[in-house]
Amino acid sequence: MNQDESAAGVDSWFNLAGTNPFSRILGFTVLASFLNPTNRDTSYIASGGWMLILGTLLEVGRRFCQWLYERFDIFQYSLTASFDEGDPAYEWIILFLTDKKLWKRSRFFHVTARTSARKWGVKTGPPRMAEHVDCVPTYEAPQLFQWKGYWAEIKRDAPSLMFSEEKGSHWSRKIFLTIYSKDVNALSALLEDARQLYLEVSQPNVIIRTADKGGRMGYDESMWLESKAKPRRALSSIILQEGVMQSILEDAREFIDSEEWYTLAGIPYRRGYLLHGPPGTGKSSTIYGIAGELGLEIYSLSLASQYVDDSFLQRSVSAIPKQAIFLIEDIDCAFPSREELNEMDEMPHYGPFPRKTKSGRPMSQVTLSGLLNVLDGVGSDEGKIFFATTNYVENLDPALLRPGRIDRKIQYYLATKTQAEALFIKFYPASLTTLSSELSASPSGPNVVLEKSPMVMNISERQAALVELAKEFASHVPEHEFSTAELQGYLLMWKKSPESAVSGVSEWVEVERKE
Ligand code: ADP
Repeated sequence: MNQDESAAGVDSWFNLAGTNPFSRILGFTVLASFLNPTNRDTSYIASGGWMLILGTLLEVGRRFCQWLYERFDIFQYSLTASFDEGDPAYEWIILFLTDKKLWKRSRFFHVTARTSARKWGVKTGPPRMAEHVDCVPTYEAPQLFQWKGYWAEIKRDAPSLMFSEEKGSHWSRKIFLTIYSKDVNALSALLEDARQLYLEVSQPNVIIRTADKGGRMGYDESMWLESKAKPRRALSSIILQEGVMQSILEDAREFIDSEEWYTLAGIPYRRGYLLHGPPGTGKSSTIYGIAGELGLEIYSLSLASQYVDDSFLQRSVSAIPKQAIFLIEDIDCAFPSREELNEMDEMPHYGPFPRKTKSGRPMSQVTLSGLLNVLDGVGSDEGKIFFATTNYVENLDPALLRPGRIDRKIQYYLATKTQAEALFIKFYPASLTTLSSELSASPSGPNVVLEKSPMVMNISERQAALVELAKEFASHVPEHEFSTAELQGYLLMWKKSPESAVSGVSEWVEVERKE
């Protein structure tokens, strides 16, 4: 090789090596060895050539990655959310990331013992033992994972010194979650998944406390000792008219988040809801569902209990911790209507037994003014959500329904056809329901024609068949004649046979109408 050829080789080499320091060093090493006369044997030239190709490939790869990164960034192909330590959403994400399926390659994990402490929710009783242990990758370096077909990346920054009124100065961290998608809904769906998982794990039950007679003795703190745990119910399993559940939930959420606003505006921080309508339409189920969703305990009091008088009511409501639901079911039962009261005043009353209303119900020991005082906040702390249910709103004294005592009245109705259809679909999930092969063969059976035998149907085909059956079921259920509870009772007779539920519904409706 002459001097000119060498110089041309050096030039083209510089062009190829580009600006990448790694490929430059590699290039210089190869070039220096190549120019060294002692190394000029053919095998070295061959290996030098390979090095050249390797260096070029590395540089091309680097530039391609940079190009990809810039394209993604330019078109905002990723969305990033940040979470501050101490915020509930941070807890959701941490728990979500404990899902072992997400992490196949991590080697370093951070372990925490966790309880379900939260701003609104269970806070009473002695401190609880840690309920479970979280094992989360440290992800100090960004880590990629896949979720429902999306690529996402998680990164945690180094702790920084923060200041808050509650904790003073403290070290706190942030988590950054990036999802590689332009769709904001994908990010919201991931967060919703994380939140649901948190609710399921941290609070699988709704706690319902009832006031105990022991409270009469004056031990206020022991008044609500009776408690039972009901499994948390998915809101989607409560079938109401369009938008009802969402509107109550959003209202309650907004209330919870607006304590500061109430304080600034000088408005007592409490909110009252009255759910009224026929029995079995889902009023109580709504309250339990909302309590589960918001992670609140329910303190339920029956005004009809003979040991509950004005003083008991006031003391027991004072003993309800802040940020809980105070529930009075069937509030109408406690009080006679004004007309009833007028009639009763004329009736003489003898003996220690409770007075009875005209309809024969024992009258509550609580007076209307005693209840109004409690609802107005006399003797009770603020920061409670009050729920009452009644089947007979017309029997309630208008004073009870004034804003500030009852802020929202929500009417429940007997089931519509749409509700009947939705109930049927919830009742027979495709993954657990077997359809009969004779579905379309029987003359008295449902009018649904199956395109293939249920034996060879996949889950989405079965789902489609069940939707058809649900439509037919609903077509036989008259609007606003039966409660959801009654329809549920009927379907329970055919737990394993949706076809029979459809073929028998018309007859059931006729029988029920006659009764
Ligand atoms: P209410 O308080 O209006 O009398 P409940 O909520 O106590 O009614 O309902 C009684 C039963 O009927 C419960 O088992 C509940 O699951 C069922 N039920 C009533 N309404 C609905 C509904 N809208 N959606 C789902 N289930 C319901």
